[in-house]
Amino acid sequence: MRREQYFLHATCSCGYRFSETEILTSFSPKYYLYITCPGCGAEVTPWLHVGDLIVVFRSPVVVLCYIKHTMTGRVPIDISDLSVERPDLFHSTLFHFGSVDEACELVKKSLLLNTRTRLVSLLRVLPARLVAHIMATSER
Ligand SMILES: [Zn+2]
Repeated sequence: MRREQYFLHATCSCGYRFSETEILTSFSPKYYLYITCPGCGAEVTPWLHVGDLIVVFRSPVVVLCYIKHTMTGRVPIDISDLSVERPDLFHSTLFHFGSVDEACELVKKSLLLNTRTRLVSLLRVLPARLVAHIMATSER
């Protein structure tokens, strides 16, 4: 993983600027799509800069759900086309898991991916730093 080429950025309309750690810990536990501004409570879209490319930064929950859906056919794309079809999910996957293969392995290992609650329990097998972020987000 060449993590150093990635840069996270999010600024709320109230002017609040998120740090990278805040972005990782502020995903709304409702759908894990947006981050919540600690200043005004607004939902904010986080961005992932990859060189000259800027994509929406997706949470690990969203990444794993999407990959699961590609495996079950609910999303009709070949996972090898992810970088073309969904660059946001592709680069977020690399950010969180290092590679698409690694994320696929995590999904395959779990037979308990039917609900978000169970997906959160899957996250317990993920790196401690990431788990801490997710659990902190879940308990809000
Ligand atoms: Zn705000």
